[in-house]
Amino acid sequence: MDKERLERLRKTTGVHLAMEAKETLRQMEEDFPVHPAAMQYFYEQFRIAYGSGGANEDGRKRVGTLCVQVPEELVRAAGAVPVRLCSGAHAFDQVGAEFLPAKSCSLMKATLGMLSLRSTAFSGTLDLVVNPTTCDQKKKAGELLEEFGYRVYNLEMPASRDSEEAREYWHRSVKNFGAALERTTGVRITKQRLADAIRATGLARAAYRRLHGLQQSRQALIRGTDAMLVTNAYFFDDLDRWTGAVNALADELEDRQDRSVFVAGKHAARILFTGSPPVFPNLKLPLLIEQAGGVIVADEVCSSSRLLYDLAAYDEQALYDMVPAVADRALKPCTCPVFSSSQDRIRRLLDLAQTFSADGVVYQTIAGCMPYDQEQRTVGRALAAANIPLLLVETDYGPDDHGQLSTRVEAFIESLRGKARKRA
Ligand code: SF4
Ligand code: SF4
Repeated sequence: MDKERLERLRKTTGVHLAMEAKETLRQMEEDFPVHPAAMQYFYEQFRIAYGSGGANEDGRKRVGTLCVQVPEELVRAAGAVPVRLCSGAHAFDQVGAEFLPAKSCSLMKATLGMLSLRSTAFSGTLDLVVNPTTCDQKKKAGELLEEFGYRVYNLEMPASRDSEEAREYWHRSVKNFGAALERTTGVRITKQRLADAIRATGLARAAYRRLHGLQQSRQALIRGTDAMLVTNAYFFDDLDRWTGAVNALADELEDRQDRSVFVAGKHAARILFTGSPPVFPNLKLPLLIEQAGGVIVADEVCSSSRLLYDLAAYDEQALYDMVPAVADRALKPCTCPVFSSSQDRIRRLLDLAQTFSADGVVYQTIAGCMPYDQEQRTVGRALAAANIPLLLVETDYGPDDHGQLSTRVEAFIESLRGKARKRA
């Protein structure tokens, strides 16, 4: 693309992106006025990131990641800042549609569209992009990114998580990744640096677990869309600042719990959200659920709970123990359908539905996402056997299906009213 056209496209896309982000935030703030005051911090992070674009450039190297399965502790131990690049922007989706096959998923089109413009909104300059070889679309993305001029590291993933061979393969892969990070940053990953990174990310994950635990409240203390915004901010926010803001939010929710201040009535249908990841500003489906009177009390998506729930555990402060620990933390609990078995994901969904007293499950498939589309049948059968109502939705980042989706979501929430009333 010649320079002039690139500049023009960057400008128009930037305008559309800012409008899209503004509209999502408007709906979140205005449609649900009783949100906790501590949410202002998170709204502001997105206003800045998608408005003026202010990436936190502080001299440290920046490593872009394309999946939750990249062990962020290693990136931090090598002195770099990880930035999750998965994009939810329709403005970037349209850019990606110009050079990717029409059947590609919106998430890939948006992410590659964003990177093709070198307009990484909140991420700033990227010194390395880590591309785990997960689904086919991601596997093929590495070459394109190199064509765009990025330094790419293809992090090789096993096809299953269950065998000893897969675990050994992954451990070797993560060890090699550590060496590549050291070459990129010029900083050695020592046992002290890795222990510090595990501790700092552990504190962030502990803060998230507080929030997650509060979502179990019999009457909702926080909307699921707000909780998703909090976890989406983790993609690019400063680690310690994010941890502090989540703890402040959890403190406020505990206080509201004592004073019986809730964000939804006790008869509101409680929803467990799963499927292809919702990423800001595309919170179309989660917003429709809550606008229809439901409340998302838990999720099983890699842009939210799957991103932050698990902790790395090691016995000895030695690299031979800690590197496998962060590798296991990233791989073992990951219930992404790119792996060959669906059983862990089904177990996790049934467990979440019970723990969070969900009245129903909404399963999102982004059009073009084969792994989630294929797995929805197996998941659907397991939920039906457990008598848990399910709404399957195929959508994309565009606004065209808004009316039709709204009707289907309203009907589903309405159908859960009897169940919600009995539960309450
Ligand atoms: S859906 Fe799976 S492959 Fe895609 S980013 Fe999430 S965890 Fe990674
Ligand atoms: S797993 Fe699905 S949503 Fe994620 S990049 Fe692959 S096709 Fe897209």
